Amino acid sequence: MPTLFERIIAHEIPADIVYEDDLVVAFRDINPQAPLHLLVVPREPLASLAEAEERHEPALGRLLHVARQLAEEHGAAGGFRAIINVGDDGGQEVPHLHLHVVGGCKLGRMVSVAKS
Ligand code: 5GP
Repeated sequence: MPTLFERIIAHEIPADIVYEDDLVVAFRDINPQAPLHLLVVPREPLASLAEAEERHEPALGRLLHVARQLAEEHGAAGGFRAIINVGDDGGQEVPHLHLHVVGGCKLGRMVSVAKS
């Protein structure tokens, strides 16, 4: 069964796609946490960073480079946060690796790491 993000990549369900190439796709998060909130995902289904292997290096490298480019193009050249939630304890909800690009405002320090 394809994941939600696989269906977005395949254009089967609507999303505000801002970038796509042979390795990655980027689209706006449906529930933005800041003025800019993009998700950059590898085209190839990869459930989480915990499952990444050496063969995924090209897509992982592209993910970071595209995040940097998109942050700049979308007005966050002054700084942004790039976040990958990994697994259940890491707060990952969608089982397809995704890099959050969050910015467009002054972000608070990320000091809270654990739920009580
Ligand atoms: P996670 O918690 O797995 O790191 O992040 C999943 C993200 O996917 C959340 O920020 C959530 O708002 C976003 N999301 C969930 N469903 C959809 C959807 O249907 N479309 C888009 N564009 N984003 C989604």
